Amino acid sequence: MQYAFAIVFGLVIGSFLSVVVHRLPVILERAWRTEVDAAFPDAPKTATDGYPERFNLAVPRSACPHCGHVLRTWENIPVISYLVRRGKCTSCGARVSLRYPSIELASSALAALSLYAYGPNWPALAAFGLCATLLAAALIDFDTRYLPDVLTLPLLWAGLIVNYSDIGFATLHDAVAGAVAGYLFLWSVYWLFKLARGVEGMGYGDFKLFAALGAWLGWAALAQVMLISAVAGALVGLLATWRGRMRFEEPLPFGPFLAAGGVITLFIGTPLYSLFG
Ligand SMILES: [Zn+2]
Repeated sequence: MQYAFAIVFGLVIGSFLSVVVHRLPVILERAWRTEVDAAFPDAPKTATDGYPERFNLAVPRSACPHCGHVLRTWENIPVISYLVRRGKCTSCGARVSLRYPSIELASSALAALSLYAYGPNWPALAAFGLCATLLAAALIDFDTRYLPDVLTLPLLWAGLIVNYSDIGFATLHDAVAGAVAGYLFLWSVYWLFKLARGVEGMGYGDFKLFAALGAWLGWAALAQVMLISAVAGALVGLLATWRGRMRFEEPLPFGPFLAAGGVITLFIGTPLYSLFG
């Protein structure tokens, strides 16, 4: 029964995450354009996107990107609607991206995993909150190569607050040290590379995301998170180059790998350390 609840809850949150992943970059870019236009009133206006004027996480209702058909309530049920509609728009028959049910299923699996790992209590809810935010941040970074502050910074604060309370994934001491160490470590790597080779392999969003993981998991977990992320990133980078999908020099967005390293460490702890003594 608890698992049924976790799975349904995960699906519903996953459905919301799809909206966040698709709309947040548009909303942020609009805010940025408004600022630019206000700062340079004489310059020609920056181009507009094709979205309606009122556009936020709730408005307008989800619609088919091909024909504009607004989804009715029954067409908006996570995964089930996708299966019932056989992955097609009921109005024009265009394919619905497999991404939507995939995000919903991933979110659902993470909710069930949180319940399994932490039992039916606040720590499970907190763990799922971390996973859901990481999922959204990873997908936005993958799409746009940009990790929004509106996700990474609240995640950092949430980690400190969670560890200040009794829920605790790490002591408050380790959490604060983790936030500082996470940011400083990637910041140093960034500047070393930049000074030594003139390349920018990462962005400031990566530092903030790693700091957030330090705040949640404590400083001691960061070495393992970095090891998993770096190895996974290198493997995927080589694979993508080999398959001809990418040029070798092209930087990969690092956020998805940091997020994966964080989620894995959240659930399995740090068994890698025992290998080294
Ligand atoms: Zn359609």
